[in-house]
Amino acid sequence: MNEPIIVCPDEPVLLTRMRGQALVIRTRDPAAIASLAVRTNGTNALHAVWLDSDQPLDDIPIESRWAGVTLVIRCAGIASVKGLSPRMPLLRRLPLRIFIPAHLPSAFVDLHILSSLGISCGLIVDASFDRWQELNDLMHYAVYCKAPHAPIEPFNYVVTHYHPEKMTDFDAAYFNAPGQYLHVNNREEIALTQEDLQSGRILAKGLGALETITASPAFRKSQYAWRKRFLEMSSCASCPGWRVCLGKYADAVPPTTGCSEFFSDLLDAADFYRRKRDDGRMDECR
Ligand code: SF4
Repeated sequence: MNEPIIVCPDEPVLLTRMRGQALVIRTRDPAAIASLAVRTNGTNALHAVWLDSDQPLDDIPIESRWAGVTLVIRCAGIASVKGLSPRMPLLRRLPLRIFIPAHLPSAFVDLHILSSLGISCGLIVDASFDRWQELNDLMHYAVYCKAPHAPIEPFNYVVTHYHPEKMTDFDAAYFNAPGQYLHVNNREEIALTQEDLQSGRILAKGLGALETITASPAFRKSQYAWRKRFLEMSSCASCPGWRVCLGKYADAVPPTTGCSEFFSDLLDAADFYRRKRDDGRMDECR
């Protein structure tokens, strides 16, 4: 198993103590992004920077100095195409993805616009999500539409990583897949996901634990947490979309409807993409 990548805040003392680690650094300050590449250069592999913003993309300053940083921007939609237009060439050129939370009414329209403009983007979906038909429509656009457009997550992750005999965890597109990433806060608490960290579901405390955590019983147990769906004989156990959903919406309150149909369609899309790729006919995907 590869060493997990550490997701942590932009906290100078913490970063100094994590020399040698591969990092995803979270920040709320756009002005800090360019310096992060410089500050970690030679001491860490900077996997990506995650910028959290409550502003729409129009109001976030975008800098050409970010060219050397893989960047995810979580923002409150795009506000207007007119506002984006002057910055479109820069947005297309930078290695960035724009993530928009699914609870925003304009999220699906915004993602459709961004993708059609050639800007990589993605939807942030939480466990109480219930807009399955809209999600399915966006997925069909992302995977089947022949007009040129940029990738949309999590569909892009699923179709490009899908293996018919394995499980595909699209949380990796959000640096959140347990086992591939570990999340650390200023108090040096370590958790499997950002949600676990914020909810106090802590695996260990102290950066020293990072060296041994993947061998710990708690970590190993977390790798097989999905098995409980089968032991409970929940509806997930017989769901055709299990291999790409992994029961992420099973605990939603009220229970989600439409999840199974969506993930079944996403599996079909992943098979479609794989066949086209194997046949060398990717032009039929985009
Ligand atoms: S799609 Fe719904 S029923 Fe199927 S595995 Fe996911 S949460 Fe369970």
